[in-house]
Amino acid sequence: MNEITRSQRWDHLERPRVEALDAILGTPTPCLDHGFIRIVDYMGDEAAITQAARVSYGKGTKSVSEDRGLIRYLLSHRHTTPFEMCEIKLHVKLPIFVARQWIRHRTASVNEYSARYSILAKEFYIPDPRDIMPQSKTNAQGREGALPAEVRNAMVKTIKHQSHGAYDVYQELASGWPWFQDNGDPIPDTGNPAEDDTYRRPHEGDFGMARELARMVVPPNVYTEWYWKVDLHNLLHFLSLRADPHAQMEIRIYAEAICRIVQEWVPTVWEAFEDYRLGAESFSRMEMEVLRQIIMDAPAVQTMMKIQDLNGTDREKNALCRKLGIHKEDQDG
Ligand SMILES: Cc1cc2nc3c(=O)[nH]c(=O)nc-3n(C[C@H](O)[C@H](O)[C@H](O)COP(=O)(O)OP(=O)(O)OC[C@H]3O[C@@H](n4cnc5c(N)ncnc54)[C@H](O)[C@@H]3O)c2cc1C
Repeated sequence: MNEITRSQRWDHLERPRVEALDAILGTPTPCLDHGFIRIVDYMGDEAAITQAARVSYGKGTKSVSEDRGLIRYLLSHRHTTPFEMCEIKLHVKLPIFVARQWIRHRTASVNEYSARYSILAKEFYIPDPRDIMPQSKTNAQGREGALPAEVRNAMVKTIKHQSHGAYDVYQELASGWPWFQDNGDPIPDTGNPAEDDTYRRPHEGDFGMARELARMVVPPNVYTEWYWKVDLHNLLHFLSLRADPHAQMEIRIYAEAICRIVQEWVPTVWEAFEDYRLGAESFSRMEMEVLRQIIMDAPAVQTMMKIQDLNGTDREKNALCRKLGIHKEDQDG
């Protein structure tokens, strides 16, 4: 027996499970017209977060309210590594232009469908006419306002036509048809190909260019797929940027689907994330000075009553007093 087993007894560990996630493991949540998100695997639960945070002084059993307080403290004070103890692996099907925004989040592990190996599916994101709007006049990176319905419908028709036309060229480039005949000889550029059935038959890849090159003509609304594995800390960062109203609607739809997953997976973390990130604002030093002045000018009793109304722990109420420069004893007096 070595030193470790002599000095400590280790319990057999059960793999942490979250029933709500197990129930939806592998089930796709539809996103956009052909996309989806499905959970492939996950590791850790809320106990993994609090356990990691407490590891310095041993495991110990804590009450649910102590765990909630700790999670809120960790999140509000921007602790990171306890949240990195949880990981999730998602299978995502998404248009390439959404993937381009998504891949900017470098702190995840990604494996994408290879259009060098395989032929891309003939699936394009065609926006719902209701989601087509003009360029925003106030936000250079957004859409705002309204276009006539007939214009939007015509635009959708054009997008469909263009996408399918581009895909036809992609298939033709990859298969060789109609630039080569069955025997590989170039088609003489006389006559009308549409009327000459000696070279109208596609011949699957025999004379076409490589798929890695043919794909360049496919538009960025074609769908791709990937496995995306990320830890909870970086996932929350992703969500704070991509579930935000400033994010493009198409990626936001995926982010919102992930938000619902996080809510099921780690509900207390989700609650704290909504309180401290999604619904929160940060203030500059100058803004804080103005705010403090406003508070100082307000009747003290009213201010304290409002702070007592705050739906949070005593620690959170004290933190608010500190941020606003309120000395509780002065106010109480
Ligand atoms: C609304 C919106 C508009 C955008 N517009 C544009 C645009 O016009 N053009 C454009 O190019 N991008 C744009 N982006 C992308 C944006 O600039 C970020 O690249 C993207 O959001 C990823 O953020 P991140 O680097 O924080 O995330 P991650 O890559 O997941 O990184 C998470 C955190 O890890 C740290 N980190 C990761 N890698 C490094 C590193 N190599 N060095 C130092 N720290 C690192 C950083 O603290 C970072 O915040 C936009 C994003 C949003 C949400």
